[in-house]
Formats: sequence, structure tokens, C-alpha cells
Amino acid sequence: MYPLNTPVEKLTRVGGATARYLKSLGIFTVSDLIYNFPYRYEDFSHLAKIVDLKPGEMVTIRGRIVLIKNRRSWQRRMYVTEALIEDETGSIKIVWFNQPFLAKNLNSGDEIFISGKVDTDNLLGLQFVSPSYEKINGTKSLNTAKIVPVYSLSGNLTIKQLRFLTNLALGSVRLVKEWLPKNILQKNKLLSLTLALKEIHFPKNFKSLDRARYRLKFDELFLIALQSQIIRRYLDKNKAPSIEFKEKDIKDFVSSLSFQLTNDQKKAAWQILLDMQKETPMNRLLEGDVGSGKTIVAALAALDTIINGYQAVFMAPTEILAKQHFQTFKELLAPQKIKVALLTSSEKNLNDQGVITEKKLIKDIKEGKVELIIGTQALIQDKIEYNNLGLAIIDEQHRFGVEQRKQLKDKSKSLTPHFLSMTATPIPRSLALIVYGDLDLSIIREMPAGRKKIITKLVSEANRDKAYQFIKAEIKKGRQVFVICPLIDPSDKLGVKSVINEYKKLSKNIFPDLNIGLLHGKLKAEEKDRVMREFKANNIQILVSTSVIEVGIDIPNATIMMIEGSDRFGLAQMHQFRGRVGRAEHQSYCFLFTDNGSPKTLERLSALIKSNDGFKLAEYDLQFRGPGEVYGIRQSGLPDFKIASLNDLDLINLTKNEAKEFLNQCNINDFPELKAKLDEIKIIDHLE
Ligand code: ADP
Ligand code: MG
Repeated sequence: MYPLNTPVEKLTRVGGATARYLKSLGIFTVSDLIYNFPYRYEDFSHLAKIVDLKPGEMVTIRGRIVLIKNRRSWQRRMYVTEALIEDETGSIKIVWFNQPFLAKNLNSGDEIFISGKVDTDNLLGLQFVSPSYEKINGTKSLNTAKIVPVYSLSGNLTIKQLRFLTNLALGSVRLVKEWLPKNILQKNKLLSLTLALKEIHFPKNFKSLDRARYRLKFDELFLIALQSQIIRRYLDKNKAPSIEFKEKDIKDFVSSLSFQLTNDQKKAAWQILLDMQKETPMNRLLEGDVGSGKTIVAALAALDTIINGYQAVFMAPTEILAKQHFQTFKELLAPQKIKVALLTSSEKNLNDQGVITEKKLIKDIKEGKVELIIGTQALIQDKIEYNNLGLAIIDEQHRFGVEQRKQLKDKSKSLTPHFLSMTATPIPRSLALIVYGDLDLSIIREMPAGRKKIITKLVSEANRDKAYQFIKAEIKKGRQVFVICPLIDPSDKLGVKSVINEYKKLSKNIFPDLNIGLLHGKLKAEEKDRVMREFKANNIQILVSTSVIEVGIDIPNATIMMIEGSDRFGLAQMHQFRGRVGRAEHQSYCFLFTDNGSPKTLERLSALIKSNDGFKLAEYDLQFRGPGEVYGIRQSGLPDFKIASLNDLDLINLTKNEAKEFLNQCNINDFPELKAKLDEIKIIDHLE
């Protein structure tokens, strides 16, 4: 029996090349082999007699080789191996192509399983073409005569090899420790872990495969639920300042706005203001489509905090956005005489004094002279200390990182501030339950009234020139254009090559007389900022960018969003791109290009053309392409499920309840295996 951490190189029949292929699949050890689950199965469990075979059936037969030989097929320049197999009821012909070694491995007289689809040939009647086969020699079959696993492969690795190695690794499956608490196992009638792991690879039948799947999905979802609940409990242990809901002041402020809040904005603001009254820190995510008006909701929370005598910080992902928000809040809160500061690495600014020194700003913050501080990551530098932080808002992020949260807490002396994160990524509730199990959720679905719909069109190559003409005309009118390029070459992870090519093409051949800007992830922060500033000032008319283009950036004058290779993006992500235009009174457009005209692609893209609802589009992505496509979810910490899926809603709910109950009744330190499992995802360390 191999120890679980045995490197794959040490296994029988694994040479350097095979080890490399395995590693490229993420398989380094025996344990990895055990946890490398099949993505589907072939059912060869049905043993048939040759006389009963019918065309089209998937079957396994057991017989003896009567004859086997190779020949070369000259027209088709390939080897053909032909064999005749018989059982006690009849015989059937088998054909394999380009596997001449078969005639060496298999000999007349050998007993053999053949699994595959029964084919018909006009002349010769029934036959098998390139079926799976397995010699019967006393050991158990892995490739035929049962439900057999199908795995992802790489390089020259064959499915048979991988089945062989997996079976070998399963010899050590007893060493895998059970980590689910006994009462949870019993209550939910779960298979033992070792049995589930065996059955997931080589199931006895479909019923036991289902039970194995259920157990392993349970494991993944339970761990995530437990993790969220632990974070939640940890956070709830902290004490936050209770911020009284100053209803009159807030109402006065709202009625002074030039517009009416939407119902969803009111509801979100209400939830936030009520949360902040509590002495446990708020941990809330405000989700709302681009342009749905999240900023004003955040402003209400900040205002309430400040009226109560506490400071609030507002953290943006980039300098440009921080600056934009500083401008917005300065104007919005001007009648309230609130002191607002901007703090980024390149600029320190106070609303009533203009640019000031860093030293002065740090001092003012520490002494509580500044009430609202807007900035970037610079807000959590070591040298910054707050006087009495009551609320921390983070824009365009799904949650505060554990580290950020800890730093802000440390900066606010004894009390933990309330946390509000905001994102334009529309994440359906089912998904949010997993990804944000530790957060409360407010959703703004309703858009402010009177927005112009962005006209979205799929442009065929034949009409590309027309689109360029249209763009020229718009630019003549003073408008601006975004061009988004996809990742094309997989080795070009940031899409730099593709975006540079597009940039060259547009600036040399198509629009030689316009100023064209270039933006991608490899540029330095200052260079990115410079390009965005130039674009904002309309010194650049066309901005060619990878998907790094800032979420939330406001270029009211931009009216055209061109998306190249649109089949390569998720719908929700493209919806976000589209949200970069249509921010002012001008009619705006989104042009989609693709060289993949498959009906599936066209159907998907037509959803984007028809719908303007980010949540709907995200659900569509989720259904058709899986959660990875819903923009930003990877970064937000959704684990790559091996087996569970977001469609397992019942199980998601069940495991959430089990995790809660477990933590209510037990001390996790009494469950070392479970704790070890959680340590694998390194969460407890971060908290302690
Ligand atoms: P996002 O949710 O993308 O951050 P913003 O908060 O930047 O959106 O709001 C987009 C624009 O809509 C801003 O100019 C804001 O002033 C305006 N806005 C917000 N709420 C409303 C409303 N209820 N009615 C009309 N305009 C609104
Ligand atoms: Mg915003």
C-alpha cells in the first residue's frame, strides 16, 4: 500500500513523460489520483450474448478471439486490425484503426471483453468499430464489463493508463481519514469516505454511484458552509459602535437630492442603517448593476455614521475611481459641511483646503478632524491611524479580505467598524449563498427611471467597415469609443499581444488621424492612470483595452463599446463592459464582433442583445457556462468544485444548516480531522 503522499513517479509504469502529463492535470500524488474524479462514465455493465446484439446498443460481450490480423488500407493510409470473436451463441467482427500493436497484444484463443456500440456494415452485418477491450486474465476488469470512469486526459496519457493508476491508488484508499463527524454521517445516511471514493471511480451500479456522488458533494459544500459560519461567528464576536439611525437628518438629505431614490435603493439603505444600529459589526454586500445607484446608498450610510460622530472610510480599487468618488462626495455632502479627504499614494486633498501634505492629512485623520476619507489601498497603510472609525465601505469588491478587515479593525482601537462592500457583479442568490455565506446581502435590481437603453448589435465581418464609418461619424460629433479585446493566445495570459495588435491595426490602418489609447494589465499603475486621464479629458478618442478596463469609471462622453471576440466573454462580463457607455444623455451603442458563428454562440449573444438585466444575464451564464463565467467569481473565492455544483440547491441549504447546528453543539477542536481539513483551506489561521 502506497502512502497517500507518494509521488506519482514512484508508481508502477509511471515514467517521466507520464508523470509530466499527470502533473499537468494537477495530479502529483496518490491522494491526487484518488481525488481526480471522473467527469463521466460509460455503462458497459450490461453483458450481452452475441446472438442478441442489436444495432446501436452500448454493450459488453465476453468471448474468445478466433482470429486477429493487421492489414494496411492503402486508400486510407492506415492500419486496420480485424478480429473475429465468438461466444457460445455466435461470432462478430471487430475492427480497430491505426493500432497495429493490438495484433501483438491479443492472440487467437484469448478470452476478452469487448465494450462499445454495436455497428452495422452493409456487407458484413453487425460489427464493433474501435471498441474498448480487455483481456480476461483473472484480475478485475477496469475498462469493460462494468460502469467505467472517463477522466480528462493530457498528452499521450491514455484512459486505460489512468484507470490503471487510479485503481492502483485506490489500494491506499483506507488511509484516507474520515473527517465528517459521526453524527452527521449517520443523520444524513452518508456513505463512508473510503467507500464513496472507491465507488466514484468504479461504481458497482448507478445507485451506489449516486450515493457516492452525494457524499462527496456533501463534503465540498459542508466545508464551505462551515468556513462561512466560522468567519461569521468570529466576526460576530467583535463589538462595533452602535450607530443610531438619525431618521430626520437622513430623510432631509434624501429629499434634498435632485432625484427620487428607487424602491430598491430605499430598501438597501434601510437594511444598512438598521444593521449599523447593532453592536455586532455589519457585514453586508450591496449588489447592483452598473448605474443602479449604489454610491448614493453608501453616502447615506456614511452620512449617518458621521452625524453620530464617527469617521467613515471609502475604499476604491484605483486612484482614478477614488478621485471620481471624492468629487462626487464633495458635491453631494457640501450642504452638510462634512470634512472629506482624498488619500491615494499620489494625491492628498481636503475638500475645504485643496492639496495638502501627507503629514498634515495623517495628523488630521488621527485627531478626527476629517470625517470621511476616500482613497485606495493607501487607506490601510501602517502609518494611518483613525480616531474613531465607524464604517468602512469598499467599492467594486465582493468583500473585505480577511487581511483588510483585520487592518481596519486594528486601526480603530477597541471597536470594529461596520463593513459594507459594493459590487456590480450580479450574482444570483443561489450562488451568493455559497460565495457570500458569511455576508448579508442587499440587492438593487431596479434601475433609476429614464435611462436610455444601450443599442446592442452583433456586427458581421461584412459590416465591419460600416461600423468603423459609424464610429468615425460619432467621433466627429465629439463622442468617444472603447474597444475591448479578448485573450486569444493562451500563453498570452493578460491578452497583451491581442490588444497591441488591435491597437496597431486601428491606429495605422483604420483611424490614422485619431488619438488612440492602449490599456492592459502589464502597464504600470501610473501609466494606466495617465491613459485614463487622457481619455477622460477627450485627448484620446478611442481606448483599446483588455478586460482590465475599470469597473465604475465614468466617461459620460463615451457612447460606443466595441467588443472583439465576443464569444470569448461571459455575458455578465460584457454587460459590465456595456455599462461603461450610456452614462449621459447621448444614445449609446454596444457592437459585438465574433468569428465564431455557431448557433450556440449566436443564441448566447442574442441574450445580451435582448436583455439589459445583469442578473438575468448572470443566471444565463450560470446555466450555460458554469459559475466561472460570472465575472469576478474566481477572485471572490469560490472554490473550484470537483463535484458539487450550484444546481445542488437542496444540498447547499442542507449543508448550511448542518454547519450551523454543528457549531452550535460542538467545539471544533474536539474534531481534529475536520479541523485539519479546514486548515487545508487555511482559514482558521487567518482569523487567529
Ligand atoms: P453604480 O451603482 O454603478 O455605482 P452610481 O452610484 O455611480 O452607480 O450611479 C450612477 C448615476 O445614477 C449617478 O450619476 C447617480 O447620481 C445617478 N442616480 C443614482 N440614483 C438615482 C436615482 N434614484 N434616480 C436618478 N439618478 C440616480
Ligand atoms: Mg459605482
